[in-house]
Amino acid sequence: MFDLSGSFIRLLLFWGGILFFLILELLVPYRQITVSKLKRWINNLALTLFNTILIKLIFSAAILGTATYTEVHKLGVLHMIQAPAWLKILLTVAFLDFVLYVWHLLNHEVPLLWRFHRVHHSDLNMDVSTATRFHFGELAISAIIKICLIFFLGASIQGVLIFESALVLCAQFHHSSLKIPEWFEKIFLFLFVPPSMHRIHHSVIIRERDTNYGTIYSLWDRFLGTLLMNVDQAKIRIGVGPYQNPDKLNLHRLLLMPFTRPIR
Ligand SMILES: [Zn+2]
Repeated sequence: MFDLSGSFIRLLLFWGGILFFLILELLVPYRQITVSKLKRWINNLALTLFNTILIKLIFSAAILGTATYTEVHKLGVLHMIQAPAWLKILLTVAFLDFVLYVWHLLNHEVPLLWRFHRVHHSDLNMDVSTATRFHFGELAISAIIKICLIFFLGASIQGVLIFESALVLCAQFHHSSLKIPEWFEKIFLFLFVPPSMHRIHHSVIIRERDTNYGTIYSLWDRFLGTLLMNVDQAKIRIGVGPYQNPDKLNLHRLLLMPFTRPIR
């Protein structure tokens, strides 16, 4: 029963978020598009659909099963400490987000992982659809890591569901092409990742790209010295240097990208 309602909430948040940010992007866009939005959306949504089906088929039951198993058998670090449920959920979200930060950093630093992650970065414009543009290989490896972490942590189903919901909405927000008041970005940056911070992460300049790895919290970048904010936002060119031709970024090329020649 919970799985059904959990899946429904996730689905609703995911597509609701896409629709919500798409409408906002059309009303208050951050800057003019340089390549066809329709073509990019077809690619990004096709990847999303392909990934959703495969991840659902292969990993969904395993993720849920692990959370249920650790809960029933009281396994994992969180079962060893006495704390209210809300604090355990907060710890789950913070811990999983921190590991995601490390995982994201490794995706940039380890050449084999970058082969997969560059599919995400090769988008030539950034908008809410970029948040879902990932190669299945990257998502499959991160799903396996997630299962191990849930087991280690003894995270509850609610904790995992809240983490995943926060993750989706934060990623959709900071990828979206929205004109946001500077004061809001500054306040938001205090704890979380605003669009301006993540835009720098999508720059073609490698020195800029290898910063700002956070997804939910900006704290990890701040504490571990990978935060970069003093970049002229108007001059940021989005994408990966050698992949600038939109005609060479169609779906089958994106799927084959990890297995083609290495490119920084
Ligand atoms: Zn990245």
